[in-house]
Amino acid sequence: MEYRIATISGDGIGPEIVTEAKKVLDRVGEVYGHKFNYEEVLMGGISIDTYGVPLTEEALETAKNSDSVLLGAVGGHVGNSRWYDVAPNLRPEAGLLAIRKGLNLFANIRPAYLYDGLGDACPLKKEIIGDGFDMVIVRELTGGLYFGERRTEEVDGIMQATDTLVYNENEIRRVALKAFDIAMKRKKKITSVDKANVLDSSRLWRKVVAEVAKDYPEVTVENMLVDNCAMQLVMNPGQFDVILTENMFGDILSDEASMITGSIGMLSSASLNEGKFGLYEPSHGSAPDIAGKGIANPIATILSAAMMLRFSFDLDQEADAIENAVKKVLADGYRTVDIMAEGMTQVGTIEMGKLICERI
Ligand code: NAD
Repeated sequence: MEYRIATISGDGIGPEIVTEAKKVLDRVGEVYGHKFNYEEVLMGGISIDTYGVPLTEEALETAKNSDSVLLGAVGGHVGNSRWYDVAPNLRPEAGLLAIRKGLNLFANIRPAYLYDGLGDACPLKKEIIGDGFDMVIVRELTGGLYFGERRTEEVDGIMQATDTLVYNENEIRRVALKAFDIAMKRKKKITSVDKANVLDSSRLWRKVVAEVAKDYPEVTVENMLVDNCAMQLVMNPGQFDVILTENMFGDILSDEASMITGSIGMLSSASLNEGKFGLYEPSHGSAPDIAGKGIANPIATILSAAMMLRFSFDLDQEADAIENAVKKVLADGYRTVDIMAEGMTQVGTIEMGKLICERI
């Protein structure tokens, strides 16, 4: 098969890690008989330098006309870069919000998996880690508090700020459907996280999730309050399979889950629309502190490319091949600097990409 992939290398380490992910995809293409055609799209700081805005209409169109999008990262040193002395909608990260909205990417999928051999990087005690953990966080991405009406005003001489948290049942249903479909391919358990003891939006969330669950009798569903979930993630992470939650809770919980895996350089993510289209990117940022040094860990981006094969192209076998190659490289003792441990062999970005290709 032939696929059109829009690539957004972006800023900082973005170009370095996207280059390695493309090499890995090409290797998969060679072995399994596919052709991946790439079209580079400018977004973030590089687009600001070229066009004065973080994302042009043409760039968005190119992304829309592709089969999926692979993104490195955007942004520079916050507070210490020419890209930040401007209105918020002209900063590099505004490109991210614009592309998510423009492509209608409402479901964010972030796996948190503890690799064999990376247990030492996990900040949890060995007895808590147990046999490890393997979960996926499905976060609603285009609704809730971050997209509600907001204002700051003076009321009776006192400054007051208001943010509104709105969800309608359709927004909840469509992300719940994604979570149930993902659970069906995994251990068939969903933990739906909310704050239903306080928030109306959470009570609606719970009701709609229960309705969707009726069509998935094989999936076990439990409801958990967000404060409890934050504790459970560090007390017993092995209990989770799929965590389904709203935008702000998901923002916080997915960062917490990524911390317990030990390295931000290993974490992939996908943002999906109603159909098969998705934007795939590492969970980390553009790491301007290490950009250009050839030491960035490309694995999160490579695993994001694997998610693309699985979710957008239904190439499960090929996705497995990438994931297994990553496991093999780690088992063979190769590490980038961020996950380096005693007795292991330290390699740079390009070498890591090559080692993974060789194991596909
Ligand atoms: P960051 O994730 O870029 O970096 C945090 C720390 O982790 C740094 O020390 C960095 O060197 C390290 N790190 C990150 N990725 C790594 C990798 N692949 N290999 C090795 N080490 C890695 O977060 P930050 O420093 O808070 O943000 C830097 C810039 O990235 C900011 O402009 C921010 O807005 C932007 N950002 C972009 C995205 C995105 O494009 N989706 C996401 C988050 C942050």
